Amino acid sequence: MTKIEHIGVVGAGTMGAALAQKFATEGLQVILVDQVPSAVEKALTNIKNMLEEGIERNVFTKERVATIQSNIQGSHQLIELMNCNLIVEAIFENLEAKKELFKSLSTIVQKDCIIASNTSSFSISDLSTSVLYPERFIGMHFFYHAAKNRLVEIIPGMKTSVQTLETTKLFASIIGKDAIECKDKFGFAVNRFFVPWLNEAVRILEEGIANTATIDNVCKTTFGIGMGPFALMNATGIPIAYHSEKTLEVFGKAYEVAPLLKTQAESGKNWTINDELIESNDQETKSIIKDRMLAIVFLISSQILDEEVCTATHLNRGAKIGLRWKKGPVELMLSYGFDEVVRLISSLTNKYNLPMPVRIGGEFLKMESVTLNTNKDFAVITIDQPENLNALSETTVDELYEKFCLAENNPQITTIFITGSGKAFVAGADIKFFVRNIKQHTIEEIETFTRFTQNVFDHIDHSTKKVIMIINGLALGGGLELALCADQLFALPTAQFAFPETGIGIYPALGGTQRCAKKIGKGLSKYLIHTGKMLSSTEALEIGLADQIISKEQAIGILAGNQPVPAIHKKELKQHWKDIQQFFEKYPLAEIQNKSIEEATLTNEELTKIIKSISYKAPIAIRIADRLIEEAKGCDSELNYLSEIFSTSDALAGLTSIGQKIKYTGK
Ligand code: NAD
Repeated sequence: MTKIEHIGVVGAGTMGAALAQKFATEGLQVILVDQVPSAVEKALTNIKNMLEEGIERNVFTKERVATIQSNIQGSHQLIELMNCNLIVEAIFENLEAKKELFKSLSTIVQKDCIIASNTSSFSISDLSTSVLYPERFIGMHFFYHAAKNRLVEIIPGMKTSVQTLETTKLFASIIGKDAIECKDKFGFAVNRFFVPWLNEAVRILEEGIANTATIDNVCKTTFGIGMGPFALMNATGIPIAYHSEKTLEVFGKAYEVAPLLKTQAESGKNWTINDELIESNDQETKSIIKDRMLAIVFLISSQILDEEVCTATHLNRGAKIGLRWKKGPVELMLSYGFDEVVRLISSLTNKYNLPMPVRIGGEFLKMESVTLNTNKDFAVITIDQPENLNALSETTVDELYEKFCLAENNPQITTIFITGSGKAFVAGADIKFFVRNIKQHTIEEIETFTRFTQNVFDHIDHSTKKVIMIINGLALGGGLELALCADQLFALPTAQFAFPETGIGIYPALGGTQRCAKKIGKGLSKYLIHTGKMLSSTEALEIGLADQIISKEQAIGILAGNQPVPAIHKKELKQHWKDIQQFFEKYPLAEIQNKSIEEATLTNEELTKIIKSISYKAPIAIRIADRLIEEAKGCDSELNYLSEIFSTSDALAGLTSIGQKIKYTGK
């Protein structure tokens, strides 16, 4: 597999500059080329300004910004790209210009250099006809702002080789993008429904049903978004919306450009949106807008599924990550229910004389949150719901169990790897589930879920197969409790570990209090659980929570079966951690809370930090956690206090105010 270290970006406009910034931030060497030298200069200045803003917001240090900048080299000559392993094209959306460029590039770069186009509207197979060795050509459609938005659509053309596709997917993962794979059809997955959604808003305006502010307002609540379609078009460019919709007209009348969209695009003016004119009391108008906007999304989403442009999981992910919709189209269809979906879609199939799509409910809308891949003698289970930070919901745990059993029952498999996709390994349990059941007075549902998840974790912990966790990102709460079921725990440098439970009114109840103490001892477990301290991968290794740190490339190599699993060596605990361990072993919780510490080996600064962070935690939760660790009666002892803890007002306050400082009452 080609190792991607040197990247070329052609076109230093909006997308090219952002992509160069992103690749360089991930430590890759980038050559940014534009035919206009001043465009390169402008892009480098924009990148510098963006990175410096990052220093002000404490995202980057000065030194890091200097390193990132030194990773980018600007040029106006294609010849500079001759040694690149991957080239991403981001020039004007002009078919002939792109084809010309690919012809020239083909004669400059090595035979195995992957060439990817960021085109929004052209066919990848068509573009590939101008590339020498088209098997190394592929679509990588990024989203604005490409340095920040994690979504990328990966589009193999008719001639793209499997190796090019796999390398491109790995590359996306290495640079921290969440990829969805799409067929080479106009609009791919996201723009195919998103642009007609913008167009539908214009039609509603054109028909005089409501003004821009009202339409935007209804859309904001219906789709859980910060900006409505008109505000969005003003921000990203009305001509882009117009041109994109124009290319979608091949799909028939439902996709025809609204005449007003064309007029507005040609006028060069933004939409006028006056929030004072929101017609907020007219329920009938509101429900017409809502129905129309949902109907267009439901119709096109079902067409996307019927044409197998992408899976239901990826379609939903595209909207949530790429467009930041609160619920993706598939979740929306599921929440409105089959009959309502049929009613809404029928309004359009009748209007445009279209057949009813087939994939509108049931199994067709099933989304996968855990994947299983087997390779010779090992299996890789990936918790794959990056749009929800891989939170442990009821369905995720069900799927994890199902996939784990499948791998375990396969006699060829000796090792099972468990990892996560995106930013998180698993960022905790599904908080909404807890809140819903507390409010509905059905705490027994939480008990059932916790008992079942404990059984699943127990099963993984006691599997006869070797279980290796590869922690790629956040392992919080339930995620850390799952990680602790490993025989070996490898952390990527980006991994972070914490037990945030006592800070949100509850305690770890998926074996965390017991397995953590077994692995790193009672003292350090109390430190982690009582303070909620977030550990970096280095700290996790130092205290023995992680067994080894590996690079992302190494992790990918191991999971692809190309690299051996490294040996692990137990490390001596550093004095700093020994001091913390002894402190928590010596002083009972009540004495720490009352600050009645006689002589601590800790520095004053450390002691104050510990006492302060414990004082912010929910008192009942922390008391139960402390007792569970101290008594060490096994994982199921954690089940004994669930009803008590989830009945407290502190639990409800904590779970409904994540990220805010709460004054807990101890009730
Ligand atoms: P842009 O107009 O901002 O920049 C295009 C740049 O390409 C210009 O600096 C131009 O000088 C340069 N260029 C043109 N022809 C060239 C050539 N032959 N060689 C070298 N440089 C050349 O465009 P953009 O908005 O960044 O879009 C670039 C591509 O990305 C398009 O295909 C577009 O459809 C796609 N895209 C854009 C967005 C977006 O939100 N802007 C989102 C996804 C994809």
